[in-house]
Amino acid sequence: MEGGKLIIFSAPSGSGKTTIVRYLLEQPELNLAFSVSATSRPRRGKEKNGEHYYFMTVSEFKKHIKNDDFLEWEEVYRDNFYGTLKTEVERLWAEGKNVIFDIDVVGGLRIKKKYPDVTLAVFVKPPSVDELKIRLKKRSTESDDKINMRIAKASVELATAPQFDKVIKNYDLDTALIEAKNLVAEYVGAKTSKTEG
Ligand code: 5GP
Repeated sequence: MEGGKLIIFSAPSGSGKTTIVRYLLEQPELNLAFSVSATSRPRRGKEKNGEHYYFMTVSEFKKHIKNDDFLEWEEVYRDNFYGTLKTEVERLWAEGKNVIFDIDVVGGLRIKKKYPDVTLAVFVKPPSVDELKIRLKKRSTESDDKINMRIAKASVELATAPQFDKVIKNYDLDTALIEAKNLVAEYVGAKTSKTEG
């Protein structure tokens, strides 16, 4: 596979990385396209198949693993598989795009290892684990059990931050957005104003 750059955003669930990724996708000069992951987790709220994720059953997911269709995959939570299909990155590269990923830390570092020369791996750091808890509860898309599972994973994930190329502290969203935009613009060689949000 060859083509544009790979931009990875990884962080504990609730850190705000999805908001940052969405904002970056709205900046035309970055020429980004979102890598839609495959997952076996149930659809949440207004999520659409092929837009937010390619939703599939556990057995469909396992078939793709067997066929070696994934660039990386992970059982992020029990029976909730997530993975990046090779065809997804090939498709976006063929369109001449830089590809942006919103994936977990293990998957992010795995892609970085496979494509070290064309990958920028960014870790988004939340203010604290307590703040994460508050954000996840506010989102109220999951049960308490699931929220606790995500919180427990967060501490392990936070320890991987030093392995990333860059760490963005998401203490203030506007500041984090500008920082993210400038980082990515520099990496993909796009012209952008350093002060504009
Ligand atoms: P959620 O269920 O909140 O959409 O995602 C849970 C976690 O799985 C998040 O950290 C998300 O970034 C991660 N994730 C989403 N897609 C992928 C993927 O393709 N591969 C890996 N390894 N993790 C992913």
